[in-house]
Amino acid sequence: MNEFSLIDYYFKSLETADSNLIFGIGDDAACLQIPPNTHLLVSTDTLVAGVHFLPEWEPYNMAYKAVMVNISDMAAMGADPRWATLALTLPNFSQPWLNSFSRGLKEALQQYQVNLIGGDTTHGPLAITITIMGLAPIGKAVRRKGARPGDIIVVSGELGAAALALTANFPLADDDQIVLQNKLMQPKPRTELTAILRQYATAAIDISDGLSADLNHICVASQVGACLVEDQIPVHPLVHRYLADKGLDLALGGGDDYELCFTVPADKMAQVMHDFEKINQQCYPIGCIESELGLRLKTIKEGYKPLKIQGYTHF
Ligand code: ADP
Ligand code: MG
Repeated sequence: MNEFSLIDYYFKSLETADSNLIFGIGDDAACLQIPPNTHLLVSTDTLVAGVHFLPEWEPYNMAYKAVMVNISDMAAMGADPRWATLALTLPNFSQPWLNSFSRGLKEALQQYQVNLIGGDTTHGPLAITITIMGLAPIGKAVRRKGARPGDIIVVSGELGAAALALTANFPLADDDQIVLQNKLMQPKPRTELTAILRQYATAAIDISDGLSADLNHICVASQVGACLVEDQIPVHPLVHRYLADKGLDLALGGGDDYELCFTVPADKMAQVMHDFEKINQQCYPIGCIESELGLRLKTIKEGYKPLKIQGYTHF
């Protein structure tokens, strides 16, 4: 199998009919018809072996995660994910590997109705780059910039489980092991919150590097500060069970959770809570945006203290 038959066999088959897709895989570029009154949002995320996943992972999970982290970026922007391209660098050609990889890719894309419309296939150290494209009504995309003093800071779920999965070097109950591995390998982008974000959020981000680092991005972009309340930060129950004394650190500094962190005007908070209830989701208000720059933590034992910004950085 050469590069072109590989593309045809494993990837062209994933492209589906789509009323906005004029043409996709097979030309030098894909062509899309963007619906009227919408903006196109574009984002890229790369997963590198040894950094974002381990080479011994099932290729299914590598592809699955690569799709999910990209969809999460669309969720964070209040955009509906629609199309993706895949740039895949492979150290060798292996049919079982590609079967597993393309199955993970297909199932992940199908779950969120994202269409694969192009890509690039090259030989080299294993790396997976997906570019995702999505749509939002004009003016409705939510940015990191926009948080205002007085806004409530909300996170969409419990934090720290993916970081626990990475650091746990002690025995876990079998069921817990599975839950944690799934947290790490199969994150669930919070696309069900898109309508809420569009309606209420003044700023938003997905938590990929760690809550404190990602909230800091909102603060820097919005030229504000933030104060979090220690006992309101939702620490995942498995983190409590296995590493209770590090729970807060994992929740604040652990990456890979892909929950959303967003800000909401205080007078809209009751409606936000109500809308979360309507879709059977729990919403966690964890603090407040302030005009004083920097991050602070209101602790039970020591009162207010500066919050150290911790989270993953590549360089
Ligand atoms: P070019 O020579 O212009 O780079 P390629 O030979 O790389 O074109 O790709 C041929 C077609 O296959 C293009 O339409 C491209 O978008 C698509 N393609 C290549 N690799 C992939 C992939 N991994 N997944 C999906 N589509 C791909
Ligand atoms: Mg190419």
